[in-house]
Amino acid sequence: MPLSKAVTQLDWRFPPGGSETVAVASAVPLDSGALTVCPACDMILATGPVEVPVGSRLICPRCRNTIRESKKDPVRRTLALSLTGLILFLPAHFLILMTFKVFGMQDQGSVFDSIRILFRQDYIFVAFLVLLTGMIFPLLRLALLFLVSLDLYRQRLSRLTPFMLRWYHHLEEWGMSEVYLIAILVAVTKMHHSTLIIYDKGFFCFIGLVAVMIGTTLVLDEHAFWERIEALAAQKKQRSPAAPAGPPPDRVSPRQTAMAAGLVQCRTCHKVLPFRQSPPGLAARCPRCGGRLHQRRPQSLATTWALVLSAIIFFLPANLMPIMKVEFLGVPKSSTIMDGITYFFQSGSFGIGLIILTASILVPLFKIIGLLLLLLSIRCRRLNWLTHKAVLFRFIEFIGRWSMLDVFVVSLLCALADFGFFTTIKTAAGVTFFSFVVLSTMFATISFDPRLLWDAALSNLNP
Ligand SMILES: [Zn+2]
Ligand SMILES: [Zn+2]
Repeated sequence: MPLSKAVTQLDWRFPPGGSETVAVASAVPLDSGALTVCPACDMILATGPVEVPVGSRLICPRCRNTIRESKKDPVRRTLALSLTGLILFLPAHFLILMTFKVFGMQDQGSVFDSIRILFRQDYIFVAFLVLLTGMIFPLLRLALLFLVSLDLYRQRLSRLTPFMLRWYHHLEEWGMSEVYLIAILVAVTKMHHSTLIIYDKGFFCFIGLVAVMIGTTLVLDEHAFWERIEALAAQKKQRSPAAPAGPPPDRVSPRQTAMAAGLVQCRTCHKVLPFRQSPPGLAARCPRCGGRLHQRRPQSLATTWALVLSAIIFFLPANLMPIMKVEFLGVPKSSTIMDGITYFFQSGSFGIGLIILTASILVPLFKIIGLLLLLLSIRCRRLNWLTHKAVLFRFIEFIGRWSMLDVFVVSLLCALADFGFFTTIKTAAGVTFFSFVVLSTMFATISFDPRLLWDAALSNLNP
């Protein structure tokens, strides 16, 4: 079915009678594998396969979520870029980024040094967080992507291939090399008034690495990867016999949700399957990727409420307590997040000041207020602005990781601005609370199931 026809023939609005099902006459026999279901609102978009031409996107007409984006030659391009990223990884993290010189004294450091110094200053939690998000997860992302695309390129499927692609999917937002690059630029801007900065090989390798990592996300077509994995598995007859095989409904219609049609969509690989209630404590597994199958994320609202409230509690000490201590000629001075922002505005670096203000204060506040709005909207079963709320949630998901910026900046300044008695920079307790805020809001976004917005609105229509 051509893309434009498939999308335009759908009427996504709630039916006027208030009932969610449509006339049986317009229904078609079920082939759950061929269904197109929106993962963000659970609506069945098409009852047959939808062809998405290369360079086009399939967008859900109800919640505006991009369901699929078809890319050109995704396997070879992903393989080439992930290999380049792996080659650049070691020099980017272990070579000297830059040297700071002031009054004949100098200090230099690599990305790895900035993490090592956090461990030395006994900020173990923050050090682990920076180590994981700044180094380990980006490395895992590249390695997993390289191994999966190599398997697909050689048309060989190992037992680990679906497992590796599933873990790439989960780690995608936790690898934060792009945020780290912006942190390097912020650190440079902060120091360039008072010190001479000499850029070193590590700096240029890191820029190359970030460009390659952004490239991998642009060329990767996860949907095509999963389809190839499934085709190879079918060839080798490796399909798990324990696939959930509940009795499928006879007929299914567009405009129904997958849940109402007795189906479940895998949150990782988006495969649609007949749903079978599993015994308590035992979740059914997706036969394609091995991920857990739930029609809705269990305990989604309670977990999200708890995490948002934790973020609110941590937000105050994160902003009131100093995040770093600067010692100039033996005189200590503490600096909060707001002090750092004021410094940039007063010294004329409005762009950087605005970036830190946005990443450190506006983004966490926006995430907390946005998630509260969504939670209250579900609680009150509100019907209005549903598409806007769905877009708001995806925006919150997108901006979440950028709050780590200030944590990275502090760790870099500690590594690069240690000039003995003249001046030293050390982390302070506020940075730990700030990390808690970032983590709470990121986990809150992960635990929130946006399909509940539409369920709540429907339950208001059909009490
Ligand atoms: Zn949708
Ligand atoms: Zn799956």
